[in-house]
Amino acid sequence: MTNRYQWSTVSGVFLDIVASRDIFRDLVFACNLIMTNSYDFIVIGGGPAGMMAAGRAGERGKKVILLEKKDHLGKKLLICASGRCNVTNAAPSDVFIKAYGRGGHFLRTALETFDNERLRSFLLSYGVETVVENKGRVFPKSQRADSILKALDAYMHDHQVRIQTNSLVLGLKLGNNHLSGVNTNHGDVWGKNVLVATGGLSYPATGSTGDGYNLAASAGHTIRSLYPAIIAFETAETWVRSLQGTPIKNVKITACQSGKRIAEQFGEALFTHYGISGPCILDISKCIVECLPAGPVGIRLDFKPRYTFEELDGILLQQIKRHGSKAIKSCLTFFIPEKLVPILLNLCNIELQKKTSQITTPERKRMLKQLKEFRLTLIRHRPIEEAIVTAGGISLDEVGAKTMESRLLEGLYFAGEVLDIDGPTGGFNLQAAFSTGYLAGNSVDERGSFARRA
Ligand SMILES: Cc1cc2nc3c(=O)[nH]c(=O)nc-3n(C[C@H](O)[C@H](O)[C@H](O)COP(=O)(O)OP(=O)(O)OC[C@H]3O[C@@H](n4cnc5c(N)ncnc54)[C@H](O)[C@@H]3O)c2cc1C
Repeated sequence: MTNRYQWSTVSGVFLDIVASRDIFRDLVFACNLIMTNSYDFIVIGGGPAGMMAAGRAGERGKKVILLEKKDHLGKKLLICASGRCNVTNAAPSDVFIKAYGRGGHFLRTALETFDNERLRSFLLSYGVETVVENKGRVFPKSQRADSILKALDAYMHDHQVRIQTNSLVLGLKLGNNHLSGVNTNHGDVWGKNVLVATGGLSYPATGSTGDGYNLAASAGHTIRSLYPAIIAFETAETWVRSLQGTPIKNVKITACQSGKRIAEQFGEALFTHYGISGPCILDISKCIVECLPAGPVGIRLDFKPRYTFEELDGILLQQIKRHGSKAIKSCLTFFIPEKLVPILLNLCNIELQKKTSQITTPERKRMLKQLKEFRLTLIRHRPIEEAIVTAGGISLDEVGAKTMESRLLEGLYFAGEVLDIDGPTGGFNLQAAFSTGYLAGNSVDERGSFARRA
């Protein structure tokens, strides 16, 4: 018995030692795991804002990891301007500040730190020449968005940013009002500084599905209501379907609601199967979206804005005289696209085949009115998934404009479209992403710096 007891005690101690060594080994393993999986800066989102932030922080000697849920970085960047990528605008700084409306003031430091000129020199330093086109729009000379992505990739590579794709960030690791990292579909990643650069809500196939709003809200941030800012519209007039794909160049569009003018733009519009789109419409879409909850918005298309009613009437008379024996429809193609002619004549109550010489004065006046004030009724915007940019987002009141750091939680940063910032078309949204990303990467402090891997 004694021997057996003694033996069992000895074996128990032996097992305890083995067990405690296991625990010790587990502990060492866990510590190693935490250390190797610990970073100065964890960047969530591999869009332009996240890539620029990661590169800049790496350049400053920080140990950086970028977590991207898709299998590739920059999916949205690659489809910008149909793959040509309108990377910024050549406009002076005051135009930039105005372009973002309420967000302009907030962006001042970000734009001063990394403006359009610095962006272009940065791209040039990676071999990407840029060219200025119509309305100051800046494109890579190659006309290829992938040249921009390659430059950002090289920037991150040069500064040893660790890139982990297929890594979906599920939540922030928060405890006692401090940040210790993030959890992902592959486990935890540790670090005291985290950047949320997850983009907006549009084109979800690119990865922008609004995850960042939930992450920010989990840290107590306010999310300003989200809506599409650059978007097309559906019209009450279903006959637009027959005009699908028809562009109208040099048109002036005036949007009105309850007799009040709410926006005006000159440029190109495009009929679609559901309504109307095109640069001119997209440029004024944000304020139309904001008005739609109060009811439909009427738009007037002036097909010949360079002429007054009287001047255009004179030109119409000349055309009528010239086309006397021909059908009126051939006369109208001088003013509007051929596909639009039957619709305009129908609205004027004039037969398509009526001879030009038989057009009466009241009929001519009706045509004139349609040429100067062709009306459509916008009843709803297209879904946010189709928007170029998301308006609303993380409230700017709760983010430091000089650092992009949260005012609510130390070490939490935001950049890009996830913020309550949006600009018009013309390269302003990418510039905002690059500038805020750069500033965030430039601001991450020295707290808890980890030795960088060789
Ligand atoms: C069709 C189209 C054309 C456009 N053309 C232009 C243009 O020519 N010029 C211009 O200035 N702007 C353009 N824009 C707008 C511009 O692309 C965006 O404003 C810009 O990409 C925003 O950058 P971002 O880095 O903030 O976000 P995004 O580019 O949206 O990147 C966010 C990234 O975060 C990742 N992500 C999201 N959630 C998670 C998560 N939980 N875990 C890990 N990763 C996550 C996403 O997969 C994505 O890669 C265009 C937009 C569209 C849709």
